[in-house]
Amino acid sequence: MPVSSEPRVDDRDPASKVDGPALPINELFESLQGEGVLAGVPSVFIRTSGCNLRCWFCDSYHTSWEPTHAWMGLEEIVDAVAEFDANHVVLTGGEPLIHDASISLINRLADRGYHITVETNGTIAPPPETAIDLASISPKLASSTPTPERPPAGGEVAADESAAVDDWQQRHEANRIDYDALAAFIERFPFQLKFVLTGRGDLPEIETLIDGLRARTETGIADTDVLLMPEGQTRSQLAETRREVAEVAVESGYRYTPRLHVDLWNDAPET
Ligand code: SF4
Repeated sequence: MPVSSEPRVDDRDPASKVDGPALPINELFESLQGEGVLAGVPSVFIRTSGCNLRCWFCDSYHTSWEPTHAWMGLEEIVDAVAEFDANHVVLTGGEPLIHDASISLINRLADRGYHITVETNGTIAPPPETAIDLASISPKLASSTPTPERPPAGGEVAADESAAVDDWQQRHEANRIDYDALAAFIERFPFQLKFVLTGRGDLPEIETLIDGLRARTETGIADTDVLLMPEGQTRSQLAETRREVAEVAVESGYRYTPRLHVDLWNDAPET
């Protein structure tokens, strides 16, 4: 299993391929939003490549652990979005906000009347004037941290790749929660806080995080702004976690969110 030790989003010179600002695009497709308050809404998904974290369960493995992409100019992306009927656009990744050009893309799409959701790990807050209609913030819990025993995408790590996993274990753990960035998102944009749970044991960390954010922000965070989502990239994996996560939602007052795209299409790409 190839495991990159660095984000490889900057390893190509976009100017050699595309005139003007560009983004590394892993996928661009139309589907239903599968998660969160807009679950079920037809949407065009723009998946950028590259992430500053390395969750072991990353469901977009080809944007984080093994980034693959082609560069597209911003106008080329806008034209590609316009080929679909949906008027909701979801900018996702990877972590789309590691790219400055994502801000320009969001504003260009908003100028054309699209509703823009940005799916983010919440570590890099964009400027307040960015035209985000919904910041779908997914802070990464301690249970997301990769270890040699819990390698990416459930695979096995070859001996010559274990150093990269060790390196990422430390970097991921150091960077996965940034309270200032999370508070900035909450102050600047309509938001949902979406947590991937591997089980009941994740709840105390979520409660500590929400308490910390409530203390740092003037904007109220309702319990129903907090969404609990079962970990699982396939139907069989989801079946193991969703009942317990649903019970945690009932007990805590937080909101449960399904993963419609997994229920509908299992782990097929472009869903
Ligand atoms: S933050 Fe998101 S894209 Fe990045 S490694 Fe984690 S799950 Fe994957």
